[in-house]
Amino acid sequence: MNALPNSPRAARPQLWARRTFRTVEDDCACETAPANATGGLLHRAAMETAMENDCACPAPTPVRPLPAVDASAPLLTQVAEVLQWPLRPGYWLLFSPYTPQGPVVLNAAAYRRWQAFTQPQPMGHPIDAQLWAAALIWPQGSTPPPPPITRATTLTAWFHLTDACNLACPYCYVRKRPRAMAWETARRAVHDLAAYARRYGFQGLKLKYAGGEPTLTWDLLQRLHPEARRVAENAGLQFRAVLLTNATRLTAEQVQWLHQQRIKVAISLDGVGDIHDRARPAVDGQSAFQRLAHTVDHILLPAGVRPSVTITLTRQNAPYLAQTLQWVLERDLPFSINFYRQPWNLRPPEDLALEEETIIQGMQAAFQVLERYLPTWPFLDGLMDRGSGLPHQHPCGVGQAYLVITPQGQVAPCHMRLEETLGPVGELTPEKLAHGPIQNLPMDARPDCASCPFRYLCAGGCPLETYRATGRWDARNPNCAIYRALYPEALRLEGLRLLKVHGLLA
Ligand code: SF4
Ligand code: SF4
Repeated sequence: MNALPNSPRAARPQLWARRTFRTVEDDCACETAPANATGGLLHRAAMETAMENDCACPAPTPVRPLPAVDASAPLLTQVAEVLQWPLRPGYWLLFSPYTPQGPVVLNAAAYRRWQAFTQPQPMGHPIDAQLWAAALIWPQGSTPPPPPITRATTLTAWFHLTDACNLACPYCYVRKRPRAMAWETARRAVHDLAAYARRYGFQGLKLKYAGGEPTLTWDLLQRLHPEARRVAENAGLQFRAVLLTNATRLTAEQVQWLHQQRIKVAISLDGVGDIHDRARPAVDGQSAFQRLAHTVDHILLPAGVRPSVTITLTRQNAPYLAQTLQWVLERDLPFSINFYRQPWNLRPPEDLALEEETIIQGMQAAFQVLERYLPTWPFLDGLMDRGSGLPHQHPCGVGQAYLVITPQGQVAPCHMRLEETLGPVGELTPEKLAHGPIQNLPMDARPDCASCPFRYLCAGGCPLETYRATGRWDARNPNCAIYRALYPEALRLEGLRLLKVHGLLA
């Protein structure tokens, strides 16, 4: 098969991959057709985005290049763990656990060339460098390196402005009480956070205004945000902020202010109509969904604010996920699907707990809707709970680049463990943060996951859920069977997205 067609562009070996990762959350950039095709490689011209969600995923990083081809080991073979699926006639999806780029799409000529590497041989065609870069081929007898353990360059702080809420979601982990952050506490916290970020080498500071329902402390938010921006920028930090809201109370004036202040908006939606109202009932008995839909359709979108949608998936709402996703995609909103996590401090209804078959079936039905709409932004980042479309070692930023500020100005390691504080921000050190009550292990320290082909996309899922279910921090996540059942289809959808981005999907 060494004689490759030398001919029309369509027959030239080509490989399509995601290459970059945007650091702006909900300003999703559609990929555009490639401007160049050097050496048979087509690549995306636009940057990509991370979905906004409740947790803090590791901050986006540029795609890491693999080390250059080792000239002393000139014979290369296929990487043994590569998974492959036919995608469309003439196109294959290939996924190497070691890929820096996520799954890649090969046309028939490139696929034939890759198949040639079932027998060891030297590089002989320009596409070989791209097969190497996607970790599909490697020197005989060795394996590519795993993703590096990196620290995020942005420090993300969840500002828990209030414990109060106008909804009473049964899965909520916040003890509802009229406790809110005082102005002096908030002001002190942003000064100390900016100092911490600067002292320990972060380039950016990102605040998540949350609660409870943070719009209940609107005056505080309006005072805090300009101060936080000023302090962060004076410290030389890139500053970003997002409001996590149930979208039931936002007014047109408030949205205008958020827009002016460049505060992103992430809204929680768990279903359409009664499904949402059952999952997120309003304490006044009104329909939370009706208010949310009004906010989206008549306030946010007309104001040019495109919110990220956060969907919490439970056993109750999973059968309706397809309908929920259709509502979201009809509006072309970025979304993230977060699997339900059992609160440690409260006893939630048992029918929320994830049940494998219900979740898998609900997700598969939602995947069909996703295929019909097939957005061009990289939805894989928000599709599979804590997983991401690019390889990484840690499932979230806990213990490193993520922390929570409680209403008393104390640092907590995670928004689900508000009671386990590490002291005030002003006394925080990286060591204190790293040795808190949650062990956030890198994937390479999880022996039970070592042979999983999806390990660097999944990264083990939420550490708290793993520990709750197993009593171990390094075990497989209790949702492992769900992840493993769904990843092949999720990757196929990413392959179709790459084809669409490059104008190859009829
Ligand atoms: S939890 Fe399961 S799916 Fe995730 S990396 Fe481990 S084995 Fe793979
Ligand atoms: S420990 Fe779990 S809930 Fe907390 S930030 Fe990490 S993934 Fe999210």
